[in-house]
Amino acid sequence: MAEPLTDRRSVKWAAARRAWVRGAARADTEWVTLAVTDAQEYMPNEGTLHTLLFDLAHLRRPKEAAAFVGRYGLLLHSAARFNARKDSEVRERFSDWLDTAHALTLALRTYRLLRQAVTGDSEALGHLRAERPSLAMRYTPGEEDDLDDATLLRYASQDLAERVTLGLELAPISLVSGADPHMKGSALRDAPGAFAFLCECWTPRQYAYWRLSHVIAHHETLRDCADCGRPFGVTDARQRYCSTTCANRVRHQRWVAKRPNTTTP
Ligand SMILES: [Zn+2]
Repeated sequence: MAEPLTDRRSVKWAAARRAWVRGAARADTEWVTLAVTDAQEYMPNEGTLHTLLFDLAHLRRPKEAAAFVGRYGLLLHSAARFNARKDSEVRERFSDWLDTAHALTLALRTYRLLRQAVTGDSEALGHLRAERPSLAMRYTPGEEDDLDDATLLRYASQDLAERVTLGLELAPISLVSGADPHMKGSALRDAPGAFAFLCECWTPRQYAYWRLSHVIAHHETLRDCADCGRPFGVTDARQRYCSTTCANRVRHQRWVAKRPNTTTP
């Protein structure tokens, strides 16, 4: 079955309307720390947020967390919460970052398995079945040993929806017009008569779940990058790399390979 590509109109509501705080941070295996003097408030927009979900899901090391704070901001601090701080720096537990990354990775995996499994893919069904202990709270006693495919898919779907809903942390949704100054930098900007849903995400973590809810609800096609292996949202059927960085790296490697006489210093 051909996969529909992302409906581009549906991702125009990606922008957040709340200011976030970002800046040069330090991070180790215990803390991710942003000093007040290094922090800067800014309004995130679609351009800024393009790969946030996948950057966060893929995050494993403290230095990636520091880079994330520089690009997007602290994971759990809204600008209001940051401004209400009493100390000269604000820190978050690195373990909370890892937990979030892990939860997002799992949710993305479940989503992909579900999409394959509902078309009858027996390997995907097998993977979902292997994860059924995580659905234990849904079983009636004794059901676990004898769970039929349809029930398994129903439980896994419900479970995924609830995990994402929890991650959204009750973020309010607004309807905005393209004329709204908050749509600056958006594809909707100044489009007469154009409207979009907008999620008022206080924190980057909320936004990651908001974006994930789109991926799921719009059946977006995900692919693993042919270079670095990270999952990414496909917007063009020919797209094989997660970012221009990966595409350029591969292009450069091919260029070098084609020039056998060139010696690298
Ligand atoms: Zn890549």
